[in-house]
Amino acid sequence: MRHGLPPARPGLAVTLVTLGLLAGACTTPPTLPTPPPPGPVQHVIHISVDGLHSDAVPTLGRADAPNFFRLREQGAFTDNARTDPKLANTLPDHASELTSRGVFGDAGHGLIINDDLGPPATLRLIKGSYVPGVFDVVHDAGFSTGFFASKTKFALLERSWNPVHGARDRTGVNNGRDKVDVTVIDGNMAAVVAAFVTEMARSRFTYAFVHLREPDSTGHRADWSLANGSDYLQSVIAVDGLLGDILDLVETDPALAGRTAVILTSDHSGELGTNFHLLLPDVDFIESGIISFYVWGPGIPAGADLYALNPSTRSDPGRSIPGYNAPLQPVRNGDAANVALDLLGLPAVPGSTINAAQDLATSN
Ligand SMILES: [Zn+2]
Repeated sequence: MRHGLPPARPGLAVTLVTLGLLAGACTTPPTLPTPPPPGPVQHVIHISVDGLHSDAVPTLGRADAPNFFRLREQGAFTDNARTDPKLANTLPDHASELTSRGVFGDAGHGLIINDDLGPPATLRLIKGSYVPGVFDVVHDAGFSTGFFASKTKFALLERSWNPVHGARDRTGVNNGRDKVDVTVIDGNMAAVVAAFVTEMARSRFTYAFVHLREPDSTGHRADWSLANGSDYLQSVIAVDGLLGDILDLVETDPALAGRTAVILTSDHSGELGTNFHLLLPDVDFIESGIISFYVWGPGIPAGADLYALNPSTRSDPGRSIPGYNAPLQPVRNGDAANVALDLLGLPAVPGSTINAAQDLATSN
């Protein structure tokens, strides 16, 4: 068990004494190295492929997408997961991936706009109250985190959890307000992955988020198209090559091999034959909300269907777009934060509503 004493800070100590939390605690800060996370998995790499259509990888097949297929054939997945049921857009759905909340309503994270208005904009400012994410839980438990994104507007999310705007750590040892240890934001996704591989080899983050932009950027420029040789499919092949770089690191570094899980999903898809993504079920613009969700790593059964692993808690939605009030939810991109924490043996994101019970099983 971890000791719960913060560094000597008189004001904070007085507060804790008032709350009775120091009863029985020793009087010197712990000096032992941080023990590993309690779960079967020691590291989680959460990859979000921006604008990935869930039919793109099956269309390419193993020959053209060998690394996506490594994840599919060695792990559990579905090509019929869902975004937020009302909004399939980049920053809103990435906020869902990182907080396990929907977008709208009292329980939502509240990030509706798909832009960073710049400092001092944060999730807290937008929602009116602090919005914790996966970084909070991992960091506050004493573990390391990394944030690697390939669109500059992701600065809004990272800023929300930085040393100025992050919440006080009230879990065990005080690890401070900065929930993200290493941040790389660069518009070139290959440069982002190169930086990630270098930093992961050095720091071996407990949790790292990696965002790959190119399928979305290509879809907006040249249409979401599954035609043989399309620019869109070429962009997915480019992502596959970068996945190979990440998986090669995981499998060749003895400190990561057999201890690392990969979660791969997408913020949204796109409407085939168009250059946009838009979720309007009434007029049958639904493809934007249909995405894939993969989980790969130790203990995760090879080639398993996530719906088959979760017959009592999740339901394959067919071609529908279920709301959050559906009794059996689809697998969602918003499951990602709480799945990552579950694999690490850490509790759900405080205030989260998607997979808050951490009941999306990734093993038998
Ligand atoms: Zn996007």
